[in-house]
Amino acid sequence: MRLLSLAGDGIGPEIMTATLAVLDAARPLCERDIHVESRQIGFAALEGEGSTIPPAVIKAALAADGVLLGPVSHNAYPPREAGGLNPSGVLRKELDLYANIRPARVWPGVRSLANGPMDVVVVRENLEGFYADRNMHLGPGEFMPTPGVALAIRRITEHASRRIAEAGFALAASRPVRKLAAIHKANVMRVSDGLFLDTVRDVAKAYPDVRYEEVLVDAAAAHLVRSPDRFDVLVTTNMFGDILSDLASELCGGLGLAGSLNAGPSHVAAQAQHGSAPDIAGQDKANPASLILSLTMLLRHFGETCAADRIEGAVAACLANPKTRTSDLGGELGTSAFTRQLVQRIETTA
Ligand code: ATP
Repeated sequence: MRLLSLAGDGIGPEIMTATLAVLDAARPLCERDIHVESRQIGFAALEGEGSTIPPAVIKAALAADGVLLGPVSHNAYPPREAGGLNPSGVLRKELDLYANIRPARVWPGVRSLANGPMDVVVVRENLEGFYADRNMHLGPGEFMPTPGVALAIRRITEHASRRIAEAGFALAASRPVRKLAAIHKANVMRVSDGLFLDTVRDVAKAYPDVRYEEVLVDAAAAHLVRSPDRFDVLVTTNMFGDILSDLASELCGGLGLAGSLNAGPSHVAAQAQHGSAPDIAGQDKANPASLILSLTMLLRHFGETCAADRIEGAVAACLANPKTRTSDLGGELGTSAFTRQLVQRIETTA
């Protein structure tokens, strides 16, 4: 299996180094050989090659079986014309990574803000909605027709809604609880979220064993805080999914534990849910578990269950002990010391 590692900006290089060390430790448990090629994106690539995501990187990503994608500081990039493209958006579009799978669960021993048990997965549409950098064929989906007036296009298609609904139902059908909630705002966005809901309902017919409900996005936010155990899989459009998944992850212990997988018909990219955290970059403070857990999702996607289980077990064991946690979870370990703990556990646990 060929993986492409793209470290990115801010804490990206630190959490990518940690993730590759964990992958190395788990390599003997993998059924196939894993080759990792590393390339630069973000500011490092802008400096060296004039673009935050050079064409050669896109080509390498298309040729790889999977991508390990670090966070990027795209808000700080220069304009597109000066090479400042959002690598995450570009890769999602070029690799047709239409589903962003974002789990959030309470970890034993970790202080959680969740009101009771919580184990949810937000399945977020990744390629349309309000995302101006990827929702148009040509040009951005956001513009200013006259000074003082800004417009944003929200694109919802039956095709994308069907694909994300199918990804959500397939996932829900594989989980013990087998529940799926479609999250929407069809009371206001009658046409666009109406189309989304009609499509999800149609897909639901093929999954009679999955309990299906529809919840307004504002109510869903309240329910996640008040009674998260009512949810299992949440399927939603791009921006609602982005916001709700951050809320869900924060309730479960924070962004440092928030992994995700971007998936499409022929490519996958493991990517932490958070941004590049410039406030803690280069200080050995980042929690790499977010990207490491994203790696385990990628490994599971390729059937490497044994390696994924071992890595997740090591993460759970480290999180359970306050002495082996990073500072975002009230612990004392830096990124590298936490990684060493994980590697040791992976190598020594039978
Ligand atoms: P960006 O501009 O790239 O979006 P940001 O700092 O605005 O970066 P995030 O990177 O999502 O947004 O970070 C939000 C907060 O969560 C920051 O205070 C950051 O330090 C913290 N944080 C994010 N990821 C981690 C991590 N892996 N470990 C520890 N703290 C993190």
